[in-house]
Amino acid sequence: MRTVNIRHLVAGAIILSSLDASAAEVTRVGPFAFHSSFWISLHETLMHCATAERPCAVDSLTPDERAIWNAAVETYRTTGSGQITFRRDMRITHDVLTQIVDDDTAPKLRPPLGRALVETAPMYRRYFWAADDAANRFWIGYASAMVRDAGDELASEHARVYARPWPKAVRVDAAPYAVPVGAYTMIGQSAGVHETVATRDSGNAGLTALEVVFHEASHGLVHPVDGAVAEAIRKHADRLGIEPPRDLWHAILFATTSELTRRALHKRGISDYRPNAEELFTRAWPHFREPIEKYWMAYIDQRISFDEAIGRIVEAVPKPH
Ligand SMILES: [Zn+2]
Repeated sequence: MRTVNIRHLVAGAIILSSLDASAAEVTRVGPFAFHSSFWISLHETLMHCATAERPCAVDSLTPDERAIWNAAVETYRTTGSGQITFRRDMRITHDVLTQIVDDDTAPKLRPPLGRALVETAPMYRRYFWAADDAANRFWIGYASAMVRDAGDELASEHARVYARPWPKAVRVDAAPYAVPVGAYTMIGQSAGVHETVATRDSGNAGLTALEVVFHEASHGLVHPVDGAVAEAIRKHADRLGIEPPRDLWHAILFATTSELTRRALHKRGISDYRPNAEELFTRAWPHFREPIEKYWMAYIDQRISFDEAIGRIVEAVPKPH
């Protein structure tokens, strides 16, 4: 759901040992490499515990272990105050962790997050990892099966709609959590287009997994302020003398993958798939529904041009008073 570019942040950061680009890879389908990584899963668990409304259930830990665990969570809370996932230290750590093999017990990571990770790793490994890894691998099993069947078709349809080549390499990390909204994407240095998807979030389960994988990877093609979609939105907003409608770029991204996934599933016998955009256009973005359904779908069906579609949408979105 979110995306951040950290291309320039990682140089000279934390990679000191255990380099292995295939760490924790479970399966590969076309451009997608699906991973269940111990270190990413621990990182997401600590972010989750640092931001959860209720304290994490760590009853199985001994009192000494619990003290270490709570101190690590506090470190995460302090370092990641506010938008925890996209704080600079979190982004760098998240990217570097993709390169660390699961059985490395003492990777040299930059403090303070690195120390929190290394100190909690033994207890995460002892008490939680087996269940999280099983959940990750179960999700990867059915998500990758759908991508194996429909992935080429969906990738070429997305490339057609955005008039850009589909990414050559997408890393998908299945993890117990993906703070804060269940899935996000970073364009990292080590991992390329890098999705993290929460396997304990029912919003990513079942058939929706196919849509989530393609929605997140689309963040490698569609950006908030640059790229063809954002630039066309800005051009037409300038023409009308208004601000670019907030989140319109993301609503277009949602609508595109929702519709393409719905069509791919319909061809495969699923006639009642409820895409993510359906709920979002009801709950969060009702003002985008009609213009996007009318003009963006006409563009997807090649009845009007890309530029005309975006122009008509920007004109039709109700203006704030
Ligand atoms: Zn998104």
